[in-house]
Amino acid sequence: MFKKHIPLTCAILLACTAAQAQDQVVNIYSARHYPTDEALYSNFAQATGIKINRVDADDAGILARLKAEGSASPADVILLVDAARLWKGEIEGLFQPVKSKVLDQTIPVHLRGKASSDGASPWFGFSTRARVIVYDKVKVKKDDVDTYEELGDPKNKGKLCIRSGSHPYNLSLFGAVTEHLGAQKAEAWLKGMVDNMARTPKGGDTDQIKAVAAGECGIAVTNSYYLARIMRSDKAEDKAIMDRVGIVFPNQASWGTHVNIAGGAMAKNAKNPANAIKFLEYLASAPAQDHFANGNNEWPVVKGMKISNPALQAMTGGSFKSETIPISVVGMNQVKVQQMLDRVGFK
Ligand code: FE
Repeated sequence: MFKKHIPLTCAILLACTAAQAQDQVVNIYSARHYPTDEALYSNFAQATGIKINRVDADDAGILARLKAEGSASPADVILLVDAARLWKGEIEGLFQPVKSKVLDQTIPVHLRGKASSDGASPWFGFSTRARVIVYDKVKVKKDDVDTYEELGDPKNKGKLCIRSGSHPYNLSLFGAVTEHLGAQKAEAWLKGMVDNMARTPKGGDTDQIKAVAAGECGIAVTNSYYLARIMRSDKAEDKAIMDRVGIVFPNQASWGTHVNIAGGAMAKNAKNPANAIKFLEYLASAPAQDHFANGNNEWPVVKGMKISNPALQAMTGGSFKSETIPISVVGMNQVKVQQMLDRVGFK
């Protein structure tokens, strides 16, 4: 009896231990490059007891790594900061579609990857960021820059500063504009922007804002959270930037401001799929959504969230009209956009 029991108990114990070990970890590859996110991860670990192992890299680096690792990849959850990259991960078969009642009920359909026939989505947007226009209040009139189209208008010649056209944030903006205007008009618009540039594209979004404040550029393009960071800063130099720089949420009278997403997916070869889904569902929870708004100055995607972030309030006056196209189109348009950029000489 005893002899029989020992192996049986061992077998059960081993199974239990293995199951527990699996329950306690989720491996995340993340392109979110925001120091305030530490709270996002530690809150999840604290609430669930699931330990997070994290690999940080940029979107392209993560997709390349997943491809190279193949079925041996330890990744459970992938977090990317651009819709076109999420789409690319989907198309390259790097994700495993997730069917979750929680995510179905909370994440707007236009901010998810296209669902398969069983209703599972390959990826989900968890926060949005507006791609806005900033301008020199001394030299430029707000009326001259309140649409994306005007960035390419000859009246703004010599004024525009923008990061590289091939950066995901710009590829997605241009992909959205292509969807709204059609390819022909979009290419003429891109050419117009090249003609309007104050300098060859360089630096990140924050550098463009600073260049406007310094008087080097009259107009620039930036993601909203970079601006919010400066708005919330107590530093004298940041206050001076905001004295000089005005903000526009473009296209309020037409199709609305382009919003990109930061989002997530379950990895194709996830070894801890239940924990991966738990983490994705956590990102749609009120505390995580609140973190996106107050920690990293993004907009929650879940409806009805109260936003207390003073910078988000101040820059929008409460709310703004955002585009409602299925965000995956920015991915579908990407190759076309890159070809247009090459033709018009947009660096
Ligand atoms: Fe960023």
